[in-house]
Amino acid sequence: MIVNSERAIALTCPACQGIQKHTFSLFSISKNPLKLVCACGFSQGHLRRMNKHFELDVLSIEGERARILLTRGQFFGMPLIHLLSPMSGQSLGYLGELASVQEVVLDQPSGFFIGPDDFENPDVMRNVLERLEELAGRDKIRCECEHSSIGIDVYPDQVELVCSYCGSVVKIGASTRQHQERLERVAEIVMEPCTSRFLGEWLKPLT
Ligand SMILES: [Zn+2]
Ligand SMILES: [Zn+2]
Repeated sequence: MIVNSERAIALTCPACQGIQKHTFSLFSISKNPLKLVCACGFSQGHLRRMNKHFELDVLSIEGERARILLTRGQFFGMPLIHLLSPMSGQSLGYLGELASVQEVVLDQPSGFFIGPDDFENPDVMRNVLERLEELAGRDKIRCECEHSSIGIDVYPDQVELVCSYCGSVVKIGASTRQHQERLERVAEIVMEPCTSRFLGEWLKPLT
């Protein structure tokens, strides 16, 4: 019997909101984690083999960490698994046979795959995101409000850091060499809290 060992995992990226597809061979998943990196450069998490399970450890679209354990039977046997966050029940993406994953993603109204073409300068974007992740990893990105909680939004030519508590936003250019060099010289990003005056303006009804 010939087993087609090719599988795909499609995950919604919390940074660029696109759906990133990763293909791999079933037999390539070992205790060494397979890193799931989006085309925008954001590291979504990893997939690895544990003793009796396969572990998927990823960030949901809201930036929450979700850990899913799949049995060997599920991992090897299912044509398509809809991955749901155990915490919020939200969709994280799909895992399964390549064709099935492709089909279900393209079927969704918001379903689109992210590729390097989506960025004005993919190299610079990758560098900028790596640098930001590195800063975040060392706790060097924060907001001065009471409950600093920084999320990241990725656009074709820039990145926005957003404090989800106070609404403060910092825009970082990510399309030219100068943007990249400027960020390389930054040792820490401290965001000014968004004042209530601004929040009040934001909350004004639209009509
Ligand atoms: Zn992304
Ligand atoms: Zn804040």
